[in-house]
Amino acid sequence: MTATVAIGELPPLGELPDRMWAQVVRQDRFGDPATAFRPEEIEVPRPGPNEVLIAVMAAGINYNNVWAARGVPIDVIATRQRAGDPHPFHIGGSDASGIVYAVGDAVTGVRVGDEVVTHPGYWNPADPWVVAGHDPMLAPSAEIWGYNTNFGSFAQFCIAQQHQILPKAAHLSWAEAAAPTLVGTTAYRMLYGWPGNTLQPDSVVLVWGGSGGLGSQAIQLVKAAGARAVAVVSDGERGAYCKRLGAVGYIDRRQFTHWGIPAHWTDEVGQRDWLAGCRGFGKQVWDILGERVNPTIVFEHPGEATIPTSIFLCETGGMVVICAGTTGYSAMVDLRFHWVRQKRLQGSHGTNDEQARAYNQLVCDGVLDPCLGQTYQFAEIGTAHAEMGAGQDVFGNRVALVGAKDPDAGRR
Ligand code: NAP
Repeated sequence: MTATVAIGELPPLGELPDRMWAQVVRQDRFGDPATAFRPEEIEVPRPGPNEVLIAVMAAGINYNNVWAARGVPIDVIATRQRAGDPHPFHIGGSDASGIVYAVGDAVTGVRVGDEVVTHPGYWNPADPWVVAGHDPMLAPSAEIWGYNTNFGSFAQFCIAQQHQILPKAAHLSWAEAAAPTLVGTTAYRMLYGWPGNTLQPDSVVLVWGGSGGLGSQAIQLVKAAGARAVAVVSDGERGAYCKRLGAVGYIDRRQFTHWGIPAHWTDEVGQRDWLAGCRGFGKQVWDILGERVNPTIVFEHPGEATIPTSIFLCETGGMVVICAGTTGYSAMVDLRFHWVRQKRLQGSHGTNDEQARAYNQLVCDGVLDPCLGQTYQFAEIGTAHAEMGAGQDVFGNRVALVGAKDPDAGRR
């Protein structure tokens, strides 16, 4: 039996210990992420034929494992167990930077020693939908790695499918490299994945939560396309951060109160107040742009609080594209502003390989900043999720060091 190595240490390349440290969530700890995660020694998994075992140097923190730790809206452990997974625990983590330590028998093009990052799109390669060449993120087997699946990056070793493996940008540290891929590839799919409404140089994109993980990548993608991003934030410091990333301006949402499900259409007074809020918000978009132009794409994730405004504001023939319902799921669409103006409300989730590679190339080329915000120690993974869930310090992406000793390690 090979001894577990300490956090911040690595075994010799390609040598696998029997056990590893992992930040583990169990069902009897569901609730506050600060206490749901706990370090435990777990058996090191071995890669299946199409899988890759990575020694994790740094792990990106994403909102999905706030949900996993709370056990809401789904119990990821019970869901996996119903599908035959024997493990009564969850090792999350949907972003990793690290070094390949072992590959499965059928893996080609990925070798032990490669320095890599992972994208979070996960599916059964034998799924008939995938085999037929359709978008795998629309396959019945599509999932998010390190959320729906076990043995993600909150451990010294993680297991990924070979198609998820991307080259690590050489100029980034391990911490920087672990920061952006889940949110960045999601933003890329949202902005480029829906033909008829893809990002164009003349697009105007309203980006909710502009200083956050998704928002900070979306703003940069919009700028890189030569288009204009208007950010929405909840304070001036966050707004200034968005402008540094390339937003043409920002709106402080705290100036408005018309959030959530609007008054019923038969409630004249309630409707008048709601419309006044929407119009005032839209006027700020025009003021920022210096012309009466509406967003051709609205980049959505708050959901219940903001969807009615997003649908109202979106340009005729434009798209509200949404990947989450952070503030709630009962989002109301006033159909008068939807069908007559022929707007699209498009769901989007995860990434496929093509989108992930295109996004990662922009990172490798230095076009996109990974927006590393806070760096945590491995022991603080629960705290990091609790702070994220509380909306604290929303500037880019949070990362935890695992095999990397310090935040600057790993730059070439
Ligand atoms: P984040 O970094 O914590 O950012 C969330 C942003 O939401 C904050 O910047 C905050 O901005 C904004 N926000 C909070 N409350 C709001 C409200 N009431 N109204 C408007 N905006 C509000 O999180 P993230 O990484 O960007 O993720 C955001 C959501 O997307 C999470 O629910 C996550 O699970 C989901 N997501 C889904 C996918 C997918 O593939 N489906 C991928 C990535 C993320 P201000 O307070 O400054 O306005």
